[in-house]
Amino acid sequence: MIQLQNLSKTFQTSNGQLIAVDDVTLSVEQGEIFGIIGYSGAGKSTLIRLLNGLEKPTSGSVTVNGQEISSSSGQALRSARQKISMIFQHFNLLWSRTVEDNISFPLEIAGISKTKRKERVKELIELVGLTGRESAFPSQLSGGQKQRVGIARALANNPEVLLCDEATSALDPETTDQILELLVDINKRLGLTIALITHEMHVIRKICHRVAVMEAGKVVEMGSVLEIFQTP
Ligand code: ADP
Ligand code: ADP
Repeated sequence: MIQLQNLSKTFQTSNGQLIAVDDVTLSVEQGEIFGIIGYSGAGKSTLIRLLNGLEKPTSGSVTVNGQEISSSSGQALRSARQKISMIFQHFNLLWSRTVEDNISFPLEIAGISKTKRKERVKELIELVGLTGRESAFPSQLSGGQKQRVGIARALANNPEVLLCDEATSALDPETTDQILELLVDINKRLGLTIALITHEMHVIRKICHRVAVMEAGKVVEMGSVLEIFQTP
């Protein structure tokens, strides 16, 4: 589903070249929950930005469902990116819009009719468990509810891949578990492929099938969660 081949990203800094992602090769299977864990500065954010086409690699390639993200631009990149959706640590909601209008936003951009949008938003609100909160504004929601809006919005246009950027890092432990359970539920019900980055071991242990450990831009270990984290 997702293929990273010898992927590298170098930044020019005042101190010379900085290799943020260093020759990463990995693939994420259809329907898998794949975690990338590492300390701050390991290169996780750069990797996820390469995955969704926000950054261009210095070398190597990113392919999602057979379509190369890394070398595409314009219409081809837009069409490749329609398969990919993302949720964020700080939710990135539109603060002046209600819950249902936040979720409806990507549908509006996609040119979906008002009637169809209403129907789809209702389905999504049920899916993420926000029934009754349709008219609330983000500032009236708890952190967990905000992330539920983020998830519903990300799913609106039926993506094939959901990227999660530290999606539970701003939440308390109990809310974290509820959101992780929702992600597992969505993965099972919709067969959605999930790739997440995190610095939290708990997130990996709780929901990931496989994990890659990043250090200084490189993947230093990769395997099933049991293989990597089971201490003998
Ligand atoms: P993580 O998400 O694991 O904390 P990042 O991908 O944010 O890691 O950063 C990896 C390295 O790349 C860090 O040393 C960071 O300072 C550097 N870096 C990230 N983005 C840029 C940029 N736009 N310009 C220069 N250096 C960057
Ligand atoms: P928009 O609704 O177009 O995003 P705003 O001016 O409402 O524009 O918000 C701009 C940004 O400010 C938001 O994307 C968010 O990051 C931040 N922000 C606004 N209101 C809040 C809030 N109540 N809590 C946290 N962040 C906020």
